[in-house]
Amino acid sequence: MTVRFRSALDGLPAYAPGRSVPGAVKLASNELSWPTLPQVAEAIAVAAGDEHTRGINRYPDNTAEHLVSALAEHVDQPRERLVVGGGSVALCQQLVQIVAGDGDEVVFGWRSFEAYPIVTQITGARPVMVPVTGDHRLDLAALADAVTERTRLMFVCTPNNPTGTVVHTDELVELIERVRDDVLIVVDEAYREFDTDPDSADGVALAARYPNVVTLRTLSKAYQLAGLRVGYAVADPSIVTALRKVAIPFAVNSLAQVAALTALAAQTELAPRWRAVVAERDRVTAALREAGFEVPTSQANFVWLPLGTRAAAFAEHCETTEKVIVRAFPDATGGVRITIGAPQENDRMLQAARSWPR
Ligand SMILES: *Cc1c(COP(=O)(O)O)cnc(C)c1O
Repeated sequence: MTVRFRSALDGLPAYAPGRSVPGAVKLASNELSWPTLPQVAEAIAVAAGDEHTRGINRYPDNTAEHLVSALAEHVDQPRERLVVGGGSVALCQQLVQIVAGDGDEVVFGWRSFEAYPIVTQITGARPVMVPVTGDHRLDLAALADAVTERTRLMFVCTPNNPTGTVVHTDELVELIERVRDDVLIVVDEAYREFDTDPDSADGVALAARYPNVVTLRTLSKAYQLAGLRVGYAVADPSIVTALRKVAIPFAVNSLAQVAALTALAAQTELAPRWRAVVAERDRVTAALREAGFEVPTSQANFVWLPLGTRAAAFAEHCETTEKVIVRAFPDATGGVRITIGAPQENDRMLQAARSWPR
């Protein structure tokens, strides 16, 4: 091969497709296990066939006007402060692209969302990974200390994927006020709907107060639309404009826009599902602790087992004994992330965990 790839790609992992194991319980990607809401499926079917409005022979509305209005109302913010993207992971990449380039630094905790080092390196910027505390929380003081004159962006994930821990309002305000105000601070709230901690930071409120703060949310997890790719950012209008400049055109397709509008209107059906996830999360946490595992208190729809280098062995044990697929991060700072599924699915995982030779 003689094509010259950018050297920034050298350190990036090649995509490894997730294995699909027939009949297995999948607790690996933080999806909700309920089937799609019927009105969402119906809205998609209608939109697909409606040639007078936005049938799929037509390009979608590039600014997703209706969806942006609905989201603005949902978060009680002016619509100039809202922008949608092809999943919030696409917005993560766009955020890095608008502020960082070769030699710049992007700071985040580790472990945190596995996409952060990838989207950082794609632009040629350097990831600065700050270890979490002994109790698996983001170390906000150390994150602030890691900022240099080359720092352009900081990701703060709360609840943190994969450790499940949250950042509180007082500590995040302290961090924001300590860090230079030309550093973009991205509060990633992909799991907000499962967070029952009353002290948790609210990214939308902080973004309204500090112009260098952006919050990211997604329809993938709580709204059950992972397969359709819709996320959004709430930020200062200047940041929204910059994000639109680097967006892939028409990234949020017309069926995704219609589905997102319908799912957003289904709060009364979805909220009981979120409460059921929270109840199961607390049951699973207690049962795993009872079985002798260390389990940080999670405010997300998954739990974290900090098993380090034994993570891969645990995941393999779950698969071979109970056909349960969990997500292993098999290295020294690693562990196993287990999505909260339906009660019987969680019971199968617990069965495997109890029989693991520790
Ligand atoms: C799942 C997840 C996202 C994004 O999901 P999308 O499907 O791209 O919207 C973003 N951040 C974190 C921390 C996540 O876990």
